[in-house]
Order: sequence, then C-alpha cells, then structure tokens
Amino acid sequence: MRILLCGGAGYIGCHTYTVLVERGHQVVIADNFANSSPQVLARLEQVTGKPVPFHPLDMRDRPGVDAFFARQTFDAVVHFAALKAVGESCERPLDYFENNISGTIYLLQAMRAAGVPRLVFSSSATVYGEPESVPVREDAPLRVTNPYGRTKLVMEELIGDVCRADPHFRAANLRYFNPVGAHASGLLGEDPSDTPSNLMPYICQVAVGRREKLRIFGGDYPTPDGTGVRDYIHVMDLARAHADALDYLVNEDRNLTVNLGTGRGISVMELVHAFAKASSREVPYEIVDRRPGDAAEVYADPALAQRLLGWRAELDVDAMCRDAWRWQSMNPYGYAAGRVEEDRVEEAVSLV
Ligand code: NAD
Ligand code: UDP
Repeated sequence: MRILLCGGAGYIGCHTYTVLVERGHQVVIADNFANSSPQVLARLEQVTGKPVPFHPLDMRDRPGVDAFFARQTFDAVVHFAALKAVGESCERPLDYFENNISGTIYLLQAMRAAGVPRLVFSSSATVYGEPESVPVREDAPLRVTNPYGRTKLVMEELIGDVCRADPHFRAANLRYFNPVGAHASGLLGEDPSDTPSNLMPYICQVAVGRREKLRIFGGDYPTPDGTGVRDYIHVMDLARAHADALDYLVNEDRNLTVNLGTGRGISVMELVHAFAKASSREVPYEIVDRRPGDAAEVYADPALAQRLLGWRAELDVDAMCRDAWRWQSMNPYGYAAGRVEEDRVEEAVSLV
C-alpha cells in the first residue's frame, strides 16, 4: 500500500514508519515539526537504508492539505498529528481544539475529496478518564477529564460519523495505553522538547544526568506499593499494531476500535527499579503529593486486539527499559545533538 503518516516524524510515527517499510509498504511522512526534529528523517534513512519521502505540512492549513491530497494518491492514512500534553491543553484549550480537531476535519475532508478509503487514528486510553474498574475494556464508559482527552474523544466521534455517512470508508481507532521504549538500533526514541511530563522520559533524563531526581506523584494510592499503576507498552509493539490494523481494514473491510496495551499493570516504583536494573544506573527519587487528575490504576484488557488483529504485546518491561536506556545513553540530548541537515530535508521532499 501507499500510506501517508501525518505526524510521522514524531515518537510513535517514526517507529511505525520502520515497521511499515519493513512490511513492503510505500510510506510518506507529512509533519510540521511542531514537536519533532527534521533529524528524524536522516535517522529513518539510516535505519531503513532507503530515502525517506517527506512533505512539510501543517494540518491546520486547509488549502495546503487539500492541495497535497489533490496531487497524491494514497491507499491509507495513519493520523498521528496532534498536540498531546495534558497540562498544556488545560492552559491552551483552543490551540488544542484547533490543532487536533480542525486538523482532523481538514484531513478527513481532503481524504474524502481524493477518495482515500482508509484511516488509522491515534486515540488514547485517556478517553476512559478514571476507569471504574480494571482491566479496561473498549465498552467501558468514556468520560474525559481534560481538553486533550476531549479532543481525542471528539475526533473518534467525528471519524465514527464519517464512517456512518459513507459505508465504504474504513477507520481504526487505536487507543494507546502508555507507549515507552525505543527502536532497538538506539537511533530513534522519545525526545520531549520541554521538561518531560511523562514518567519514562523523565526517568531516562534523571539516569543520564540531565535531571537531579524523579518526583513520584503519590505514594498513598490504593495499589500494592502505593504508587500509580499504568499499562506501559513498548513502542515497537505499538508500531506493529498499526500495520496489523491496516491489514484488518483491507482484508476484513470493517471498522475497528481497540485498546493497545499489554494487559499488565506496572507501578511507578516497579518501573523505577526495572529501569535501574536495565541501565545499571541509580534513579534518585522522592515521593511527593499526587498529581491532580491522576487515576490510581489504569491498564488495558487487550483481548479484542488479539481476537480481531491477532496482535499482542511481546516485549516486557525489561525490554522497554533496556531500549529506552540505549536510546537515551546514545543520545543524551535527543536528536538536538545531531546536525539538522537542511539539504537532506529538501532531498526527502523531492521524493514524495
Ligand atoms: P509526538 O508529538 O512525538 O508526534 C506527533 C507529531 O505530530 C509530531 O511530529 C508533531 O510535529 C506532529 N504535529 C502536531 N501537530 C501537527 C500539525 N498541525 N500538522 C502537522 N504535524 C503536526 O507524539 P507521539 O507520542 O508520537 O503521539 C502520536 C499520537 O499518538 C498523537 O496523536 C498522540 O495524541 C497519540 N497518543 C500518544 C500517547 C503517548 O503517550 N505518546 C498516548 C496516547 C495517544
Ligand atoms: N509520574 C510520576 N512522576 C513523573 C511523571 C509521572 O510519578 O514525573 C506517574 C504518574 O503519576 C502516573 C504514572 O507515573 O502514575 C504515569 O504517568 P504518565 O504521565 O507517564 O502517564 P499517564 O498519567 O498519562 O498515564
């Protein structure tokens, strides 16, 4: 298939790119680098051994999105492009609605006009808010607790309405739990532009010496060791699920909404210890107050993804920590240390 990855230069998008190329697809990346680095393109070329077709595109630029789709044909789009910081979404809700929701509307309109028949959408476990019970199944109540989550829920609903209006349009909503880890090469990984708000990148930056200590938000949750429990999933397992979802849309010709997690809850403390073991580094920490809005325990029931896609997570928490550490120790300051090769970006643009 010829597949467009909107937001494909980001953390999950670039790992997914490697899997899709490995499976023989022709893949194009579109991104505005709002939260990623052009250096990713050079890294992807290194990993895949092939030039990386890239198109600079801001999903908020409706004429630009239309013009791009008018010139290109795709069998499917994977839509990663979104702003994703929960705290920031509370401070700047309108920017989040514009970027995530308007961007998705323009994308869907351009896809419809160009006759692109399939969409895989990056949704999130955040649509479940604080779940009533765990493991969380796809039919659990949806109740979001912040503007970022609201954009994900609205986008799922928009996509559902488009599917109902056009019985030939196919879409997959993939509800990611907590993606962590990195490509085994150490060349690709998570590179937050600001102070990390997520746990794993924060731990990585403490271990590599960029930050003094981790603050563990809450030690008095009703969990086995008192710290919050989440379902961490290796980004390469997640990447593989996108390829499987695309196959499902083609072969089964049905729409899909599935959880992508391991089904295993890991506490903050367990992750800290697993990371210290995998990296042979100390991870100094202190336990502080709970972070407002955090649930005690969230982990997936991934049975539906296994039944429909034949997909299940294969990499365990030790592999997640080992690969995250390889990436961080090989790239202590992320992609920034690499040279931004403008001519490489231009070359990538010429390949689309
Ligand atoms: P990321 O920020 O690394 O990647 C998103 C990419 O989209 C970036 O390269 C960014 O530059 C691009 N982008 C954003 N707005 C854009 C726009 N208007 N036009 C063009 N490109 C734009 O994030 P990620 O972790 O790779 O997440 C990918 C998707 O998965 C997002 O939709 C996110 O909400 C969702 N998700 C992420 C997590 C997580 O913990 N990482 C969990 C659940 C869901
Ligand atoms: N967490 C923490 N310190 C941090 C960041 C996160 O203790 O610096 C905890 C947080 O309270 C939660 C878990 O780690 O229990 C995962 O948080 P993250 O923000 O990575 O994911 P989310 O809360 O969105 O599931």
